[in-house]
Amino acid sequence: MPMYEYRCEECGAKYEQLRRMSEADVNLECPVCGSQNVRRQVSACAIGGSSSSSWSSGGGCAPRGGFS
Ligand SMILES: [Zn+2]
Repeated sequence: MPMYEYRCEECGAKYEQLRRMSEADVNLECPVCGSQNVRRQVSACAIGGSSSSSWSSGGGCAPRGGFS
């Protein structure tokens, strides 16, 4: 599972979560204030990659080992 970064639009808190790709944007909730006004940030692996177009298609960000 890839690690995603999220930022709460209400209180500005940032946090990371391991989520399935298909669930990256569902049931988001800030762990600090409980708001559901949370945005997913572009992850580090996407920045290191080519363009944002590959990110939106959901490819090019598979974890290589280390996660278990
Ligand atoms: Zn919050």
